[in-house]
Amino acid sequence: MPSFNELPLSRPMLRNLSQLGYDQPTQVQSETIPSAMAGKDVIAMAKTGSGKTAAFGVPLVEGLNAKHFACQGLVLCPTRELADQVAKSLRQIARAKQNVKVLTLCGGVAIGPQIGSLSHGAHLIVGTPGRIQDHLRKGTLSLEHLKTVVLDEADRMLDMGFREVITDIFEQTPDARQTLMFSATWPQGIRELSACYQREPVDVRVEGEA
Ligand code: ADP
Ligand code: MG
Repeated sequence: MPSFNELPLSRPMLRNLSQLGYDQPTQVQSETIPSAMAGKDVIAMAKTGSGKTAAFGVPLVEGLNAKHFACQGLVLCPTRELADQVAKSLRQIARAKQNVKVLTLCGGVAIGPQIGSLSHGAHLIVGTPGRIQDHLRKGTLSLEHLKTVVLDEADRMLDMGFREVITDIFEQTPDARQTLMFSATWPQGIRELSACYQREPVDVRVEGEA
């Protein structure tokens, strides 16, 4: 049986995962975390409920510099509900570090308060593509210090017609960024996005996909 202790994780992270009741990594976690922590791009396909959030959340939190108050990680999700869930999980995972700020930026709510929150800064931002694009256009969000972009539920985002928005967001991120893509299925559109925006991605496929 795999163990979190065998993964290259800090002691505070190991302690935190154990407190969260995560005794063992799921398959997508044990296969994604070492590559993501090594800075590689990863494209992971695994069904719903397989633990994909921590597969990117743990490396995102481990890799960030909490003293540098800038957006270092951006997670794009298809809906506000999913973004809220991901942000909640990231906040739990981020208990392994002090003073990590996670901000959600989704459509369907007023943009003014989000601009206020952004002016205070955040280390990790979780949002829906349209609203992230709005903030980039307004200049209220800068991705110049971004280290990692995550596409969560990439297949659903493509189904919802976010492809061009996602492309536009990628164009405003540093070339040296890390790109992690998570999906339950493997449509052609995902392969095309990966070919355009990932560098020699590590392929993680967990059997029994959706
Ligand atoms: P997915 O994004 O693949 O659908 P989630 O990341 O939402 O899956 O995880 C599904 C559930 O499994 C969540 O309730 C999460 O807290 C739990 N979970 C994730 N990883 C582990 C683990 N290693 N041990 C125990 N529970 C876990
Ligand atoms: Mg998920």
